[in-house]
Amino acid sequence: MSENLEVVVVGAGMFGSAAAKYLARAGLKVLLIGPAEPGGEEAFSQYAFSAHFDEARITRRLGWDAVWGTTDARSMDRFRDIEAESGVEFFRECGSLVVLARSIAHRTDSMLDQCRRNGIPVERMSEDAMRRSFPELGILHMAGGTEGLYEATQAGYINPRRLVAAQIALAATAGAQVRRAAVTAVEKDVSTGSWRLGIDDGTVVHTQQVLLATGAFTNHNNVLPGGRRLAIHAFTEPNLLFEVDGDQLDRMRSLPTVVTVDPADTGDANLSLYLLPPILYPDGRWYLRIGPGMQPFVEELRTVEAMASWYAKQQITPRQWASLTNLMQQMVPDVKPVSVRAAGCIIEKTPSRYPYLGHLDDDPTISVAIGGNGHGARGSDEIGRLAALTVLGERWDCPIDQAVFAPIYAEHDAESTGERPDFLKPPFGLC
Ligand SMILES: Cc1cc2nc3c(=O)[nH]c(=O)nc-3n(C[C@H](O)[C@H](O)[C@H](O)COP(=O)(O)OP(=O)(O)OC[C@H]3O[C@@H](n4cnc5c(N)ncnc54)[C@H](O)[C@@H]3O)c2cc1C
Repeated sequence: MSENLEVVVVGAGMFGSAAAKYLARAGLKVLLIGPAEPGGEEAFSQYAFSAHFDEARITRRLGWDAVWGTTDARSMDRFRDIEAESGVEFFRECGSLVVLARSIAHRTDSMLDQCRRNGIPVERMSEDAMRRSFPELGILHMAGGTEGLYEATQAGYINPRRLVAAQIALAATAGAQVRRAAVTAVEKDVSTGSWRLGIDDGTVVHTQQVLLATGAFTNHNNVLPGGRRLAIHAFTEPNLLFEVDGDQLDRMRSLPTVVTVDPADTGDANLSLYLLPPILYPDGRWYLRIGPGMQPFVEELRTVEAMASWYAKQQITPRQWASLTNLMQQMVPDVKPVSVRAAGCIIEKTPSRYPYLGHLDDDPTISVAIGGNGHGARGSDEIGRLAALTVLGERWDCPIDQAVFAPIYAEHDAESTGERPDFLKPPFGLC
């Protein structure tokens, strides 16, 4: 089935599925390969982990900086088209509220300037205006007071499972083959210059080019040739889900998604968080979902065993539970949940804070699209498109300097000084 392939995209997640679509549309003979979501009692495999196995990811065009603002806005401008072309709905426009400490008003000003330049309507709200517009929300006490940036349109959340399904369907429509399996080895045949990929069903695939879009477990999945490792730091991403029903559900349904940015370096007492309005989960219940910024209780997972065990258990630590409960009580003071349950995911951070999009070892036949940094979902269509341009070797048509996305190898990662690295210091940016 997979003879004379021009490119194999490894990883059918958010970046890989988008990249496969653009590569197939460019006329390449593409194979997209990655396991489907495990179901039921199936044992967890590090190849089948994916950060998109959930029901909601916050989307907004307002960006913490020009890089994320650009990838996110360009992606989101295409979401309705992707829905129409695929027939798969995934985008709910419930609005987005970003709550920030007034002590970083300069940062808020620059985000607003960026939005103005790009024609993105955002309302700057005082504490009183937020109280009036969102009576269910508590006003957090942050340095200098708080203010809000509210985007009413083209913002809210996406269902990441459904976006990936839409991208895979569009890739297939454009001619890509899709294979539900895992790649267990990636080797270059030096005599022919082509790539040989071992598959977990014992077969082998040959291709001229490879794009690795393998997410958080990349360093541990034997997909980086020559035993290389990229500078990717994996972290626990603990969430609490508060089940609501009846009146509570009715009142909270109209909430926007919320992200807060607290610049105070107060450890676990830092108030940075993200909150999703009630969302219907596959168990038929509605949950408000809360997650953290990068407080110390968000722990680094340094080994593949730690990553696999964290994900397989779907439990969070008592310290994480207590902190998230405290944040929820401050954010939605009147919530009286029917039940509360935990969910554990993994996010990967790069020292650049941006995804890696580029060739490995200057070899134009192998590229990567890795490093969502905990907020790659909303920009995934543009990140996939840029990854496709990289593979195709075509002109870079994005205002962001391509060098921003250059992959960094683990051996070039800054030596640990024992101090918290920058991405673990507040303000943590926008989740
Ligand atoms: C709890 C949580 C909340 C988040 N909230 C937000 C949010 O609100 N907004 C936002 O924009 N983003 C959010 N994110 C981040 C977003 O989900 C990720 O950045 C995004 O999913 C990254 O896409 P990816 O393609 O790099 O990785 P993934 O979507 O994880 O896909 C990687 C794929 O590679 C496959 N793979 C790995 N190894 C192999 C192999 N050897 N062979 C074949 N396939 C392989 C896996 O099966 C997987 O499907 C959140 C993430 C988490 C965990």
